[in-house]
Amino acid sequence: MSHFSAVPSEVGDASRLRIGVLASQGDFAAHREMLRSLGAEPVEVRTPEAIEGLDGLVIPGGESTTITKAIERDRLEPAIRAHAEAGRPILGTCAGMIVCDRDHLGLVDAKAERNAFGRQIASFEAELQVEGLGPDPMRAVFIRAPWIRDFGDDVEILATVDGHPVAVRQGQVVLCAFHPELTDDSRMHALLMALATTASERRDHHGSGVGKENDA
Ligand code: GLN
Repeated sequence: MSHFSAVPSEVGDASRLRIGVLASQGDFAAHREMLRSLGAEPVEVRTPEAIEGLDGLVIPGGESTTITKAIERDRLEPAIRAHAEAGRPILGTCAGMIVCDRDHLGLVDAKAERNAFGRQIASFEAELQVEGLGPDPMRAVFIRAPWIRDFGDDVEILATVDGHPVAVRQGQVVLCAFHPELTDDSRMHALLMALATTASERRDHHGSGVGKENDA
């Protein structure tokens, strides 16, 4: 699972992006390796300090109750919230989708239904067309996955399975019910890095203090 060869050119100056992966529980290592394969510097996050200054953050799949408890135990919530409020992007996958929903961190105005696909089809793969990731469908691995049951006006649906939203975006937060780290298709992580690059450029621009209009 650790051999990812494609480095999309759209990622641009990715070598400087520091992307955190919440490493309390779950499959954070696969995310770390995928981010590394794209040229980012992955950072395993277990403390609030580790979140400061990150360009982006992944909240991985695993067990949402355990991850939520770890966030409380390690007092990570204020730092995650500050990261989001600063316009720095977040990718929540599977359990990470649940952790970011209305009933948990509330980073997206949507309600994720746990284990929504039921016991009989606990795990499956599907070819998914994902809005914003180009025309080629993505092979998506679902493992006891949630779907989005209810969502507000600010939530954009990026992909559905049988009419149920399984990938959504609200501002800089992208949530998917599947595991993009378990295939060699790195477009979801590339999207996070593209959002991180844009956010970082916006900060540099505002931080410069001097308007650069029409300097030609
Ligand atoms: N079913 C898990 C939960 O509810 C999520 C599964 C996953 O992340 N693969 O937390």
